[in-house]
Amino acid sequence: MQNLNRQVVLRSRPRGEPRPSDFELAEAPVPAPGEGEILCRTIYLSLDPYMRGRMDEGRSYTGGMNPALGSVMVGGTVSEVIASRNPAFPEGSFVLGANGWQAYALSRGAGLRTLDPRQAALSTALGVLGMPGMTAYVGLLDIGRPKPGETVVVSAAAGAVGSVVGQLARLKGCRAVGVAGSDEKRAYVVKELGFDACVNYKSGALRPALREACPNGIDVYFDNVGGDVLAAALTLINLRARIPLCGLISQYSAIEPPAGPNLRPVLTNRALIQGFIVSDHMDRLADFLDECTRWFRDGKLKYREDVVIGLERAPEAFIGLLRGQNFGKLLVKVGEDPTARAVGPRA
Ligand code: NDP
Repeated sequence: MQNLNRQVVLRSRPRGEPRPSDFELAEAPVPAPGEGEILCRTIYLSLDPYMRGRMDEGRSYTGGMNPALGSVMVGGTVSEVIASRNPAFPEGSFVLGANGWQAYALSRGAGLRTLDPRQAALSTALGVLGMPGMTAYVGLLDIGRPKPGETVVVSAAAGAVGSVVGQLARLKGCRAVGVAGSDEKRAYVVKELGFDACVNYKSGALRPALREACPNGIDVYFDNVGGDVLAAALTLINLRARIPLCGLISQYSAIEPPAGPNLRPVLTNRALIQGFIVSDHMDRLADFLDECTRWFRDGKLKYREDVVIGLERAPEAFIGLLRGQNFGKLLVKVGEDPTARAVGPRA
């Protein structure tokens, strides 16, 4: 019989930054699948900034209620089907789902997608070829609408979404400029990912550094962080700039709403700022998978993962994500990946 199921549950709602005491490790029996159900063993758990909002009381921006205290933390997962009473998902298959911060979960199969480990490492389904990659794809191509020769700036450039945004901008013939939080990340973004330039927003004045990196101004600013970086980018936008507003991570743990940036340049430049949520754009999933899988296989889309081993380390890793301590797509390896050697080394 299986081990006990290990779970991370929400113990208290954070005020400001989450703390380790807001989480609790729990154990429960591993459930047995009923008719039509499968038992999934978690291999990888994705840690994402949106989870901070799910820890608060009330509704999430997707419309549903946030989880109650005592619930298992929500999260995207890659799992192995270890027992099946559902012929669509046979034992031994691998699935992308949302089983949350736990080692085992039952599912009826709704919303699951089968993964082929021969196509790409399983973990990429949570990063470059998953929700963050798709966010970059629809946000940049459909809202940013970059044209060859234009300048695209993206914040959190070394992260899961930002790293894909800049590489797609380059593939579309644009100048790609990143903003990141350390010199190590800055070097990675330029040398490994092929951005034209990257600015470390923690070393010195941001606006002059950004102006130097964008001699022709900014045509698309893909915002992942809000706050000071957004304020600096706005001062450099061109006529009819587009601003996909993807995330505001600098203020997710703010207790009071911070003072906003000056939006006057938005008005005078007739710029477009559009907020978007990737889950509203699922009609683009097939295009994203087709196009990005091709670029990925051709080596034109590189990625980096920051893999933490062990479910019990998920809380500290998540707290670190909100402080910029991750370097690449943050994943927790919850269980063994039997396919890990089926594909080549990671970029
Ligand atoms: P990342 O892998 O980019 O990790 C988060 C990064 O944000 C950190 O590494 C850090 O990088 C940066 N960061 C953290 N705190 C701050 C701060 N105070 N100021 C500036 N930067 C900060 O995460 P993702 O790629 O998964 O997510 C990036 C953004 O995209 C988030 O805002 C997220 O909420 C958003 N998102 C939105 C979606 C949508 O549908 N709209 C879907 C998916 C993600 P650094 O060291 O460079 O500061």
